[in-house]
Amino acid sequence: MREHVDAARVVELASALIAVDTSNPPGDEAKLGGILKDALGPWRPAWAEVEPAPGRLSLIARVAPSGGTGRPTLIVNGHTDVVPAVASNWAHDPFCPSVEGDRLYGRGAADMKGGLAAAICALDALRAAGQEPSCDLVFQLVADEERGGALGTRALLEAGHLKGDACLVPEPTSLAVSVAERGLLQGRVRVRGRPAHGSRPREGVSAVEHAARVVLALHGADFGGPEHPLLGKPTANVGTLRAGTTVNVVAERAELGFDRRLLPGTSLEEALAGLRSRIDAAGVEGLDYDIEVDDFGEGSEMSPAHPFARLVRQAVGAVTGQEPATVGMTFTTDARFLRNQAGIPAVVCGPGDIAQAHGTDEWASISQLVDATAAYAELYRSFGA
Ligand SMILES: [Zn+2]
Repeated sequence: MREHVDAARVVELASALIAVDTSNPPGDEAKLGGILKDALGPWRPAWAEVEPAPGRLSLIARVAPSGGTGRPTLIVNGHTDVVPAVASNWAHDPFCPSVEGDRLYGRGAADMKGGLAAAICALDALRAAGQEPSCDLVFQLVADEERGGALGTRALLEAGHLKGDACLVPEPTSLAVSVAERGLLQGRVRVRGRPAHGSRPREGVSAVEHAARVVLALHGADFGGPEHPLLGKPTANVGTLRAGTTVNVVAERAELGFDRRLLPGTSLEEALAGLRSRIDAAGVEGLDYDIEVDDFGEGSEMSPAHPFARLVRQAVGAVTGQEPATVGMTFTTDARFLRNQAGIPAVVCGPGDIAQAHGTDEWASISQLVDATAAYAELYRSFGA
């Protein structure tokens, strides 16, 4: 299949997508609508649009070459937003894509405009090979993944668009097959003390002292439970700490910001209870605190032995000559909406190294973009065949 991929076209489409700045915030993904409609236009898809806020456009394109005669549906879900880039830190212009050797540079090259281009160009590769998809394909080109998906895949879910038999998410995994993701809970523990003169520290209650004990209770703590074979154990990082007003006052307030990573199946309530039990187990006398939640996304997984995971491994292996690794990811993607809320098996597998995602001078390997294009073509051909 690889020989049927038009590498120049993949790079051209990825570059066209990168050149449109869809940094989120503000996103403004509608700016990409024209390019995406042109790219998929030759396949004469049935289009649907979801735009829950001005400019926050998600496009849905159903490609049904045989006119849709009860064939299985494969969803390809990919996000069109990117994280912002501080151009002054880049040696390359983040929104003026450039090619150097085997590398395509630009914001989104790896995460995940390169993957989108590969998923679309796979249709051309398949046709060049004289074949057609064995399934109906639904491209969900969604907004807002980088900020949790409320205005993207979640909006599609609420509008009833998450329907299909399986889902491919072309996020960067270096073409490894990811079937599981940790969830996250980010928030702040706010600790209250009682002020006193700094010369008499034991006459007050120091929020700094209590916050320090809370940090020791949480940071790097073992939250118990068995280790997940792909995701390890749940974790907590205390990333920020703000406390006190001045040196000669016993601190009245402290606030520590935490980032918990969770295993699939852990609810928000359970995650909070886990935090509280660790804090309470520290036995800090007179500790007065509450927890403010800033962000929560549940973990998700599907069986590595699921036939769809096997099919994706075969498609990648057919192109690279090597069965790809089956992995879990330490962070969340939109795959969780498919797996958890829609009950659809979703595999994350795409070109580009996750180490490049969100970084400066982000790049994707062009040969891997071509591999991905060929692997997706294999998948479109074999799914439902
Ligand atoms: Zn991404």
